[in-house]
Amino acid sequence: MSGLPATRSVPLLDLRPIHGPLRDEILAALTRVVDSQRFILGEDVALLEQELAAYCGVAHAIVCGSGSDSLFLALLAAGIGPGDRVVTTPFTFFATAGAIVRAGAKPVFVDIDPLTYNMDPARLEDVGRRTPGIQAVMPIHLYGGAADMDPITAIARRHGWRVLGDAAQAIGAEYKGRSVATLSDIDCFSFFPTKNLGAMGEGGLLTTADADLARRLAALRVHGMAVRYYHDDVGINSRLDTLQAAVLRIKLRHLDEWTEARQANARRYAELLGPGTPQVSLPVVAGYQTRHVFNQFVVRSPHRDALREHLRAHGVGSEIYYPLPLHRQVCFRDLGYKEGDFPVSEQAAREVLALPVFPGLAAGDIDYIAGLLQEFRG
Ligand SMILES: *Cc1c(COP(=O)(O)O)cnc(C)c1O
Repeated sequence: MSGLPATRSVPLLDLRPIHGPLRDEILAALTRVVDSQRFILGEDVALLEQELAAYCGVAHAIVCGSGSDSLFLALLAAGIGPGDRVVTTPFTFFATAGAIVRAGAKPVFVDIDPLTYNMDPARLEDVGRRTPGIQAVMPIHLYGGAADMDPITAIARRHGWRVLGDAAQAIGAEYKGRSVATLSDIDCFSFFPTKNLGAMGEGGLLTTADADLARRLAALRVHGMAVRYYHDDVGINSRLDTLQAAVLRIKLRHLDEWTEARQANARRYAELLGPGTPQVSLPVVAGYQTRHVFNQFVVRSPHRDALREHLRAHGVGSEIYYPLPLHRQVCFRDLGYKEGDFPVSEQAAREVLALPVFPGLAAGDIDYIAGLLQEFRG
């Protein structure tokens, strides 16, 4: 522990540097909504949708109740239902596969690329050739870096599958210079407070270039009702409330500045750790990930649990996203997968560790964490 400064306390995520400077502006906007007595959808929601469409460079932005609902609504709008299969990866937040099951369809897993943790197109090709009944593919842009969408989309087009993107962690990210909101038939986002654009509660977003899908999504989030009390489809109740929209409109104006702060933090880690710290592998940004937004900064180590304990003992928060791949979850036992089926995902689940990267993290905190990583001896 020699040259290290006195123990600090660095949480994995601290929202105070984000919300502190906006406190008065946010409270004024909330007061305005309270005084308006309009709490569901409303003008702030309509304006937020316009502003998000402009930010994402996409024709249609439809907000909803959560990121999980956005995935479910995308599947419904794409006509996915009982008897269908949908391909995704087992190395993602539960909601991706949960939405597929909720829609009555069956998840089919393919393994990930070991460097980006995203869907491996070569394995998708393979599964597509062997598996009948696939109707859609759901790639994830994990941790804020885009999946390799060109080959994934080419395979999907060849088979006639829909492409539905889980971009919950990736608002603002780009693939070969294109926004992740424009890469799929429908792209899905989350406003959960830990995401790069977080609400003060739940919220989600769907983007699409297709006017017909946009109309269906807007109806499906209000029980399939296009005309009041006339229902063409059975949808769900998944509206965004006006208070969240008011908060998100203010925060959206700062999103790029926060993304740049995340990127600068990631660069500082890389400069301090570089190749001289063989005990941890740093995140790899692929050439096609032209804008990685670092919702998470994830390192890996074969001695991950000891590393996490070392950090914890020195006041540094970290998290494992995700410790158990989805094919090993109890609720998916019936899918018939077993340990060893997705070795890349399984190894990632044993080795990954997310470190603090939030906007407002002090440079000194990164120096401190880098020092702890350097002195770590598995
Ligand atoms: C957060 C997240 C979701 C779900 O979003 P909620 O808003 O929490 O429902 C889905 N997929 C991924 C990859 C996520 O990170």
